[in-house]
Amino acid sequence: MTALSHLRGIIFDMDGTIVDSGLDFAAMRKEMGLRSGVPILEQLNELSPGERAEMETILHRHEMAGADRATIIDGADRLLAALSDEGRPMAIVTRNSTETTAHTLSRLKIDHFFDIVICREDGPHKPDPWAILEICRRWRFAVDEVVMVGDFELDIQSAVNAGCPSVLYTEGKPPEQVPGADLATHVAVHLNDLYHLLAPGQDSI
Ligand SMILES: [Mg+2]
Repeated sequence: MTALSHLRGIIFDMDGTIVDSGLDFAAMRKEMGLRSGVPILEQLNELSPGERAEMETILHRHEMAGADRATIIDGADRLLAALSDEGRPMAIVTRNSTETTAHTLSRLKIDHFFDIVICREDGPHKPDPWAILEICRRWRFAVDEVVMVGDFELDIQSAVNAGCPSVLYTEGKPPEQVPGADLATHVAVHLNDLYHLLAPGQDSI
């Protein structure tokens, strides 16, 4: 029994948690003329429909380039395979688009691990709790029977807003350098830590 092995379903963020698409958010902001410090999607909401469409074209080009070069974070495929063997359902909640998410997951041959994938077109995006609550509704699980795993503050905030436990995965960085660590139920610095939190019965990956 591990800290989270009793949970019935696992919800992952995609980029930075399972895959690395190397998106250069600073370059994207610069090309779109957006300011730093505020997430891109929130800034697009402030624009007129015409400006927004123009920015979404730029965003889509960067995201598809990221999907084309994306790699699986080392060990994440083994983690997914181990969790899949246990039979607990897994889902993805991402602020990425449906097209780039599907392309990324199928290119890396990990799409079969997830029975629900929720992208930004599907509803209010993180930190809104909508996606987590929608997944719980479809799985027929209580919200405290799932966990949200992500590498960013917005992932953890969405879990807090939904009322489910969360794991912040820092990908090797000290937790104090990662925003959201203070809000997370658990922090996993390395993928092995994540494995030990989530997967019972096996020593390591
Ligand atoms: Mg992420």
